[in-house]
Amino acid sequence: MIGELLDGLRSRVKGPIVLPGDDGYEGSRTVWNAMIDRRPAAVVRCLGTADVIACVQFARANKLLLCMKGGGHNIAGLATADDALMLDMSLMRGVWVDAKNRVAHAQAGCLLGDVDRETQVHGLATVMGFVSLTGIAGLTLGGGFGYLTRRWGWTSDNVTGMDVVTAEGKVVRASSEENPDLFWGLRGGGGNFGVVTGIDYALHPVGPEIVGGVVAWPASEAPGVLELFRTMAAKAAPELTLVALMRPAPPAPWLPKEIHGKPMVAILACHSGPLEEGEKAVAPIKAFGKPVGDVLVRRPYAQMQSLLDATQPKGRRYYWKSEYLPSIEPALVTKYIEQAARIRSPHGAMILFQMEGALNQLDEGHSAVGNRDAHYALNVAAAWDDPAEDAANIEWARSAWNDLKSFSTGGTYLNFLTEDEGPERTAAALGRGLKRLAEIKKRWDPENMFRTNRNIFPG
Ligand SMILES: Cc1cc2nc3c(=O)[nH]c(=O)nc-3n(C[C@H](O)[C@H](O)[C@H](O)COP(=O)(O)OP(=O)(O)OC[C@H]3O[C@@H](n4cnc5c(N)ncnc54)[C@H](O)[C@@H]3O)c2cc1C
Repeated sequence: MIGELLDGLRSRVKGPIVLPGDDGYEGSRTVWNAMIDRRPAAVVRCLGTADVIACVQFARANKLLLCMKGGGHNIAGLATADDALMLDMSLMRGVWVDAKNRVAHAQAGCLLGDVDRETQVHGLATVMGFVSLTGIAGLTLGGGFGYLTRRWGWTSDNVTGMDVVTAEGKVVRASSEENPDLFWGLRGGGGNFGVVTGIDYALHPVGPEIVGGVVAWPASEAPGVLELFRTMAAKAAPELTLVALMRPAPPAPWLPKEIHGKPMVAILACHSGPLEEGEKAVAPIKAFGKPVGDVLVRRPYAQMQSLLDATQPKGRRYYWKSEYLPSIEPALVTKYIEQAARIRSPHGAMILFQMEGALNQLDEGHSAVGNRDAHYALNVAAAWDDPAEDAANIEWARSAWNDLKSFSTGGTYLNFLTEDEGPERTAAALGRGLKRLAEIKKRWDPENMFRTNRNIFPG
């Protein structure tokens, strides 16, 4: 049906229109998580805002479902939908840095690494996540956290403005001066309000060298290593961010062959302050026990930002369960170690991210992202290759989460929610902001045109 309609769109967009069977269709329709298998009716690879406007107006006039793909990393596959018109933003990856005013303008199809690469030219950075191939749009709209969160808050706390194509197909600016309600909702409420075409980020001096990397030990050392993580994290300066994880050791060149596939515990650390201070701060990690691998060294910040990329390839099967935590209790650590021993695949992991700091200092109502009582995030991350292993891996993630969720703040991260998590989990992610978000949604998207997201349409 859509094929007949498309003639009307062809003359209005400059970017390629890709249909099932065309070269590039599979690349656009597939997302990071291979559990998601959906087929949009057509894909427009937008070249700029004018293409986005044309698509929104066309979808509206023809009552087509619209989906937007940034980096395609959303675990629930929110970037793709059956029979939809997909706006694939991956050709819109420009970044302009105004070093004097410490602002970067990034097009919405950028991956995190695109922004880090350009801002680091000037020794600047904004808060991005831990895997450089993730899209900035989805990450920022849902909140966003990474190694710099302890210093400068959620990614969305660093946004100074966004350009948005509304449901009417008009371009508007969202900032604290212009359309402040929309600006409030876009910083945490997901893609509910329009198609974002550009994002402005405040920048901070970082790097270009930092002290960062990872140290790993056999899982038998987990009680001591996690006690070190717990006590160090509790008193670490905001320049230092720690992440603890347990998983089977990956076949990484920095780990000896004998440990590959065997259970390990690791601490990732990134100190973004002066190098000597960083080395002092991480010394207790490097000195602890008998590590099987240690690549915690001075390195370029941009390299740190892509250190985990190889462990998270597109095309694997993934299923996550997540919670925010107020602290790391010894009782949680005990259960965490027990559950990590039950991981069902060579790629599964249990991760504890430290985030306490700047995000807790802003008022809960600062933006839609909320959850300003979060000090840590727990991610139970099942990852495997064989569809025959789906049930076992999903069962593991759910049961580990069930065992640990009593330690939660009660909040969870919007951007980590899986396909099977319903409105009650969206509510847990958006908390008190949900009511205000519903009002903003009614104003900016009264017909719920933008619904391939954690939808907040009040009905
Ligand atoms: C390997 C991996 C590592 C991750 N690490 C982190 C991390 O360190 N920190 C963190 O905070 N999160 C992290 N995440 C979660 C991440 O924030 C979400 O997966 C996020 O949705 C990814 O954004 P994306 O653009 O790639 O998503 P997509 O899947 O492309 O889109 C996600 C949602 O955003 C909407 N959207 C996309 N583009 C636009 C647009 N231009 N305008 C309006 N709406 C749009 C889509 O409609 C969809 O609802 C990680 C995810 C993965 C898979």
